[in-house]
Amino acid sequence: MLIPQEISTDTLHHPLWERLGISVAIKRLDQVHPLASGNKFFKLKFNLEQAKLEGKKKILTFGGAYSNHIYATASACQAAGFESIGMIRGEETLPLNPTLAAAREKGMMLHYVSRVDYRNKKEEEFLNGLRKTHGAFYHVPEGGTNSLAIKGTSEILSDQDNEYSHICTSIGTGGTFAGLAASIGPHQVLQGFSSLKGDFIHQEMADLLGKHQISPKGKLEIEDQYHFGGYGKTNGDLLAFIRWFYGEFQIALEPIYTGKMCYGVLEKIKNGDFPKGSKILLLHTGGLQGLAGFNQRFGTSLPL
Ligand SMILES: *Cc1c(COP(=O)(O)O)cnc(C)c1O
Repeated sequence: MLIPQEISTDTLHHPLWERLGISVAIKRLDQVHPLASGNKFFKLKFNLEQAKLEGKKKILTFGGAYSNHIYATASACQAAGFESIGMIRGEETLPLNPTLAAAREKGMMLHYVSRVDYRNKKEEEFLNGLRKTHGAFYHVPEGGTNSLAIKGTSEILSDQDNEYSHICTSIGTGGTFAGLAASIGPHQVLQGFSSLKGDFIHQEMADLLGKHQISPKGKLEIEDQYHFGGYGKTNGDLLAFIRWFYGEFQIALEPIYTGKMCYGVLEKIKNGDFPKGSKILLLHTGGLQGLAGFNQRFGTSLPL
């Protein structure tokens, strides 16, 4: 249904890292599918297969107005021949921002849910109400994390990635982190960089791993100090870093997830937190669709 493209891993060179005896590479999940890019491809893949098995023709999901998940769901559904319904948090704003305009172009029906009702997004009663309005659908939760999503993200690492000592990823809902935790080797450290503010994330990830009975073979670490003020928040330092990264490596990052994670990793290298000989693999989880909307909203010109 969704056919992955070959994913390349690019080695990044920097004199400081070479002096410290550390190598850094980036796995380009952003290139996995021309439409459904990044980690969302992995999260949706088995869900769409399940929807098909259940004979469902429609996928319904939830997200914010700039959500990568909304965009990816619209794309993947178009590619795989499903109808898609996006329940968008908040009021409609016209003209549609680039994310929602693209989702609609890919055939997604957009419905707006007040912030109060949106809190019921996981309740069976609320979902059953939606079934009355929209007919039968396959429900994918906001952010896309469920057990089939984790099955998908546990396919992100391949045998070739065994050579790395550290695997670094961004954390939102943690579905990606959980799948990686299930698939790292005993000699590997998985470092997750939370894009949300607060130390609740440690407990939330522990709960998520418990719920899905994941006992990692390697070591897990969660960094909660690179949120830049919270989910969706940025500052001049982060934006300057994203520009620097693009100038240096010609790889675009977005400020919600991948920019914060890469900033965190490179700062930790500078601080001497990685031992000599470390082989670091950064996961580029995609999300570049959000850059157009970000630039428009904040008057920035981050490279796309
Ligand atoms: C959704 C997203 C994440 C977070 O993934 P989770 O599985 O929710 O933790 C990270 N990076 C990008 C680019 C994303 O779109």
